[in-house]
Amino acid sequence: MNGSVSIHPAVDNGIMPARVGFQGGTLVCLCRTDPVEITVGSQSAHNHVCGCTRCWKPAGARFSQVAVVSRAKVKVSANRKKLKVVDESAVIKRHACKDCGVHMVGRIENKQHPFFGLDFIHTERSPQAGWSPPEFAAFVSSIIESGEKPENMAAIRARLKEIGLEPYDCLSPPLMDAIATHMAKAASKVKRTGKKKGKKKKKAKR
Ligand SMILES: [Zn+2]
Ligand SMILES: [Zn+2]
Repeated sequence: MNGSVSIHPAVDNGIMPARVGFQGGTLVCLCRTDPVEITVGSQSAHNHVCGCTRCWKPAGARFSQVAVVSRAKVKVSANRKKLKVVDESAVIKRHACKDCGVHMVGRIENKQHPFFGLDFIHTERSPQAGWSPPEFAAFVSSIIESGEKPENMAAIRARLKEIGLEPYDCLSPPLMDAIATHMAKAASKVKRTGKKKGKKKKKAKR
């Protein structure tokens, strides 16, 4: 049965709703001594489960669970010295605890990137409840790259739908639209420096 297909501990037994007026909180790594602590000064957005091979997943989970917040609202509040970027070549610089491996914050430093200004956080590492709940499942097919059996995918997609997380093999339509809008705007800026801009570009902005 679908009910036996586990996705992530934060969604397997029902999804906790956001708390009205929630203003953020702290995130802590798994270390028993000197844990890294991040303080987030706002509610999260676009929370989702992610099947990509790069996001941090808790032990045994098929998916990660990740959300975004404005980078201006994110501060390292304890044990910054334990943070290290997992892969400097990745677009998202995932700052992980050197000792326990938890990714504490993913940051985009490329100012041209559509998601520049947003930090990626794992709200499951917070002792506070009330964060925005996961809304969809991203990069679902990618779990095969992490070792999932292809023949399990139908049951996994069915389970995601059952718990209300629409499965996508990229990001959700609103986020894909945001990326395309950013690219269209960037393209029209480039063209503007050459030829005069016409009506066409205005259309692309939509
Ligand atoms: Zn740690
Ligand atoms: Zn991911």
